[in-house]
Amino acid sequence: MSRDCLFCRIAAHDLDGDIVFESEDVLAFRDINPQAPTHILVIPREHIPSAHEVSSAHAGVLAQMYALTSKLADDEGLSEGYRLVSNVGPAAGESVPHLHMHLMGGRTMTWPPG
Ligand code: 5GP
Ligand code: ZN
Repeated sequence: MSRDCLFCRIAAHDLDGDIVFESEDVLAFRDINPQAPTHILVIPREHIPSAHEVSSAHAGVLAQMYALTSKLADDEGLSEGYRLVSNVGPAAGESVPHLHMHLMGGRTMTWPPG
């Protein structure tokens, strides 16, 4: 838990977040500035700065994150498909340096992303 980290503070219920799921290891909450009808952020409770810092020691929590995105996609009715995005570093648009996966759906996605 980093006191300076927005997502650590949401995970600790220190800041408000529209939390849709939480367990001992992972958390999901709605993005404050949604870019699609469904836009949920899935994070590990552990403060990992980005996907670049992920190691094999994180295998279990990463699997929990992917399993959770599948469950949430079902819950949100995203049977037509959805997008999972993890921005790494400022050039890719990472604005909160705590590993997070964007789960976006409910509209047609274009490729390539901007
Ligand atoms: P990034 O730009 O790092 O890939 O994604 C960070 C995401 O966090 C952005 O989509 C942004 O809208 C979202 N965000 C930033 N601050 C807050 C907040 O205080 N609460 C919630 N729920 N989302 C936030
Ligand atoms: Zn954090």
